[in-house]
Amino acid sequence: MSAAHGDGRAPPVAVVGAGIVGACVAHALRRRGLEVALIDRDEPGRGASFGNSGAISPGSVVPLAMPNVLGSVPGMLMDPAAPLYVPPAYLIKAFPWLARFVAAARPDRVRAISASLAVLHAGAIENHMRLAAEIGAPELVLRAGHLYLYVDAAARDADAASWDLRRQHGIAFTELDRDGLLALEPGVSPRYRAGVFLPDHATCTNPYRYVTRIVEDFVAQGGRLVRDRLTALVPGEGQGWTCVGEHARHPASQVVLAAGAWSLELLRSVGLHAPLETQRGYHVSFEVGRQPVSRTVVLTDRKVFVAPMETGLRAGGTVEFGGLERAPDYGRADRLATFAVEAFPALAGAPFSRWMGHRPCMPDTLPRVGPVGEHPGLWLAFGHGHLGLTDSANTGSVLAELIAPRV
Ligand SMILES: Cc1cc2nc3c(=O)[nH]c(=O)nc-3n(C[C@H](O)[C@H](O)[C@H](O)COP(=O)(O)OP(=O)(O)OC[C@H]3O[C@@H](n4cnc5c(N)ncnc54)[C@H](O)[C@@H]3O)c2cc1C
Repeated sequence: MSAAHGDGRAPPVAVVGAGIVGACVAHALRRRGLEVALIDRDEPGRGASFGNSGAISPGSVVPLAMPNVLGSVPGMLMDPAAPLYVPPAYLIKAFPWLARFVAAARPDRVRAISASLAVLHAGAIENHMRLAAEIGAPELVLRAGHLYLYVDAAARDADAASWDLRRQHGIAFTELDRDGLLALEPGVSPRYRAGVFLPDHATCTNPYRYVTRIVEDFVAQGGRLVRDRLTALVPGEGQGWTCVGEHARHPASQVVLAAGAWSLELLRSVGLHAPLETQRGYHVSFEVGRQPVSRTVVLTDRKVFVAPMETGLRAGGTVEFGGLERAPDYGRADRLATFAVEAFPALAGAPFSRWMGHRPCMPDTLPRVGPVGEHPGLWLAFGHGHLGLTDSANTGSVLAELIAPRV
């Protein structure tokens, strides 16, 4: 048990970052009765968790680095319109990350990473449904499956390696022809003539409202929400930590670092490093009267996720390197809009808004979740990349299980 501080209470567990990951960790810790302070420089949910595509995808056991992806990378790097783009000026900075990414595409690494992803995702949908019910918003998790669209069966066959990986991990899916995909989504344009349906998948229909509801429930249960930008984490002499902020110093018995793509600065403050890069992604959100889709639909040729949201029809995707400071290139968002209209002609002419966010990405696709051996009381919960929504509830449960007995 940690020593008491100023107000006589034991210092709380500090969770740094109120994105979906930090919110789930803080919520799970509080539900176990721990004193918890959730610290963010901003309002909760304004980072990557604000505008993701809402896909809860336990079947995403395919690492980002696959041998077939590597073949297309050089061409993509040269083309600003490609789904993956590294601006030439950023290439040298991104090179160490890209080198690790290439190394992660070795067949033995792909098998091992895929197995780890399957463990990470296990039970994700049930965990999100439980959490959404707990916070009084069960309607936020729509369990209607995901539909992957291909221009034809040959394009789907070219993706066989990724479907084989899913099959090996017991992920259920059905191949569809054009009639089959129209039976699920009648609004799909003639561009797409083949599909795959994953029935056991879900969609969060408002990722931002989900984070804010989780945090509201955390506060209603006695959790403390603190607004401060942290600049350093400092270990105490014997035990405990101090989170140094711009406004105050926050004592903590344990610290969970869940600052998404911004986690490196605080990690460096304790002399550690991680190969964390932001993969900048974009979305457009169409104002629609009637939703043209009833579930998450993936345009595989365009690498775009389309989802029915409470706030409209969202099309999200693209991977752009370039760091945390560079201004958004909303031309990339406009291309997402073009691809969405191409797939769903009913969207033509609908007004849309644009957004950019920072995915916290590790080159081996695997988030860093767990204790830091050389720093007792420091826990990592960042690097969830393209799957931070999917894995957030599981990350919260796992860390709460590990941390609770130590406080
Ligand atoms: C376009 C796009 C589509 C996506 N689609 C999906 C999807 O369909 N499914 C899925 O599972 N995932 C998806 N993702 C990924 C997912 O959004 C992220 O993995 C997830 O949001 C990361 O959550 P996080 O809590 O780690 O980070 P964030 O949400 O970025 O939160 C980090 C928080 O830390 C705070 N912070 C940072 N530095 C400090 C500091 N020094 N002091 C205090 N606070 C600090 C920030 O203010 C922020 O609130 C998508 C991402 C993008 C960009």
